Amino acid sequence: MNDDRVLRQGLDELMLECSEEQLEQLHTYYERMVEVNKVMNLTAITEYEEVCVKHWLDSLCLVKALLPKELNNPLRVIDVGTGAGFPGVPLKIFFPQWKITLLDSLAKRINFLEQLTKELGLSDVTCVHGRAEELGLKPEYREQYDLCVSRAVTRMASLTELCLPLVAVNGAMIAYKSADSDKEIDEAVKAVQVMGGVIENREKFIVPCSDYGRSLVVVRKVRPTDRKYPRGGGKPMKAPVI
Ligand code: SAM
Repeated sequence: MNDDRVLRQGLDELMLECSEEQLEQLHTYYERMVEVNKVMNLTAITEYEEVCVKHWLDSLCLVKALLPKELNNPLRVIDVGTGAGFPGVPLKIFFPQWKITLLDSLAKRINFLEQLTKELGLSDVTCVHGRAEELGLKPEYREQYDLCVSRAVTRMASLTELCLPLVAVNGAMIAYKSADSDKEIDEAVKAVQVMGGVIENREKFIVPCSDYGRSLVVVRKVRPTDRKYPRGGGKPMKAPVI
């Protein structure tokens, strides 16, 4: 039996209501993740309360960076480098009206997410195996999203080149960074500008029920990304625009 007191306290802090169905979905997510984690590397965090804080609540902190009227829209969302589904799956559970694409370059993780999202009964979820820099060149993905989220994938300058080409003009990319990432974010100013964005906000806070400082970097897309980007051959990572 899972003890949900910490989870409920954190959700209250984020002003998110949780139905019995959503709680059930989180429990199933936890069980499947821990089970599959025995044979496949999905997460280093497996203790229930820690998962609640470091995976669910951390993912859901996105509510601190967007207005309720934005969050409640039927947004087209992509999670770049979703891994075991963070932050995309907890967000989809709490914002079921979103149409979400979960993208990862590791096929095994995408297979896990395909089965999981089916079992959770989540609709409007597309699990895609591929690299963001390749999808960013394809018309069916390029500039097709209102929101691109990403946690723990690569440094901000590289991440901007992976994510911003996927975002529609007037949409946003939100990067989950640690609170002490100011230097890394300052270093990304040029990449943000070159990819057609502006840094709109750095929302800093402590993740509920933890002492972990988080910074959500909101990059607004203000004009289309130049056709030259994203570059292939690992260049966004090896030679970021800085
Ligand atoms: N976002 C998840 C989280 O916060 O728990 C996973 C983070 S994990 C450290 C990074 C993930 O990004 C891995 O699953 C990796 O396969 C994926 N990844 C790395 N580079 C990528 C790329 N260029 N395109 C798509 N996925 C990528």
